[in-house]
Amino acid sequence: MLLLGFLLVVLIKPYYRNDRIKTIDVISATMESLLLNDDVDEKDIESAARTVIGNNVCAIIYNENGKNIYYPPDSLGQLCMLDKPITVGEELFTIRQEPLKMIELIKRENPFSTTILSQYADLEMLLYGKQIKTNLANYYLILNTPLEPVESYIDFILNQYLYIAAIVVFIALLVALFLARRISSPIIKMKDEANKLAQGDYDVKFETNSFSEINDLASTLDDATDKLSKVNDLRKDLVANVSHDIKTPLTMIKAYAEMIKDISGDDPKKRNEHLDVILEETEYLNKLVSDMAELSKLQSGVIEVKRDNFDLREATEKVVLLLSKAITERDTELILDLDDCVVYADEIKLSQVIYNFLSNALKYSDTGSKIKVRIRADEEKVRLEVIDNGNGISPEALPYIWDRYYKVDKNFNRSVNSTGLGLAIAKAILEAHKARYGVESKLGEGSTFWFELDRDYEEEN
Ligand code: ADP
Repeated sequence: MLLLGFLLVVLIKPYYRNDRIKTIDVISATMESLLLNDDVDEKDIESAARTVIGNNVCAIIYNENGKNIYYPPDSLGQLCMLDKPITVGEELFTIRQEPLKMIELIKRENPFSTTILSQYADLEMLLYGKQIKTNLANYYLILNTPLEPVESYIDFILNQYLYIAAIVVFIALLVALFLARRISSPIIKMKDEANKLAQGDYDVKFETNSFSEINDLASTLDDATDKLSKVNDLRKDLVANVSHDIKTPLTMIKAYAEMIKDISGDDPKKRNEHLDVILEETEYLNKLVSDMAELSKLQSGVIEVKRDNFDLREATEKVVLLLSKAITERDTELILDLDDCVVYADEIKLSQVIYNFLSNALKYSDTGSKIKVRIRADEEKVRLEVIDNGNGISPEALPYIWDRYYKVDKNFNRSVNSTGLGLAIAKAILEAHKARYGVESKLGEGSTFWFELDRDYEEEN
């Protein structure tokens, strides 16, 4: 607004001057056509008079003899110089009283134009004269107009400008306030919430509002909060589990090492028993650490599924072979009911799933019980089941067994390598294969762990 005001003050005078000169040209052309026109009527004369009044000009037309033949009314009033003494060159005269002097000047220089000073208003005025020749006679058109805007006119424009500026500034303030409310304040709120988040408060909720960019930001931040909160839970979980699961075997190892040192060192039988415990605990620790590494790799997506065609029956038989020692030790009756079937999947990973299912069935069944592994294949899908007659799982525990570190019986026989990670690993692998999986179990009767793969995997790629 300041710039606009400045331009207005600086430019108003040259602009006005320019406009005046153009106006004189237009009026002169109108008058000329009026004189040259043979059938001029009242209307034409009236409209010519109106242009004169409307344009802040005074005009007069004389004939060759200095007779006033047209003197329309004007709006200049006291400013009009036609009946005031003026000085042009050396001469001082009044046009209305001595028109011939003016006609003389026009004859010398046609069109004639000069600036004179109005004593009355201290304004520069333009005096313009032109000879118009018609078939019948010569006429002399004399026009007069101020070249500068009168002070009151400038004041009026500036006043008007000040009002407009005040209104514009007021509206701009309102708009700015509105925008500040709608944009800045939610962003400030978000910043506060983000600060809370940085302090570890994961319950923050980022508010949305009607601007889609702010909504996007809010939902991205909510998403980030969610993920951070999960990572935080995972971290707490991990620390709790690791400290528990690693601390117990370490305590055992330390205790037995001390026992060997202080008591059983010289007794080979006892020493061997104690060393066996140490070895078993070390083995457990080893398995725990490698299971943790495996699961974290699977969950972070570092390991990709390397699919290939392989026979699921053969893979299952290889797993059985790996577990054969445990099977014989536990005197388990293993029934294999396996359809031949080629699947398109990651053999090593699926074998790991079968291994985890089967080793669980062994772990959680009594010695001498029956375990059945079954593969059923049809055109569309392959289903593998590991059925045991073991402890079974209570309905309350059932939804959690696939979670990391979940163990139904926290104190159950640690030495049989129960890390609580086996099913979580199986779940991650099966989900990476987009397989369906599940468990049916009844407490005291046994469990059936199963997964199902679509056979059209085979055709893929
Ligand atoms: P773990 O290393 O403890 O076996 P898993 O993730 O393999 O960990 O299993 C989680 C829990 O689910 C086990 O602690 C156990 O309580 C229960 N579970 C798994 N398989 C069976 C099964 N075949 N029979 C009974 N309970 C089972």
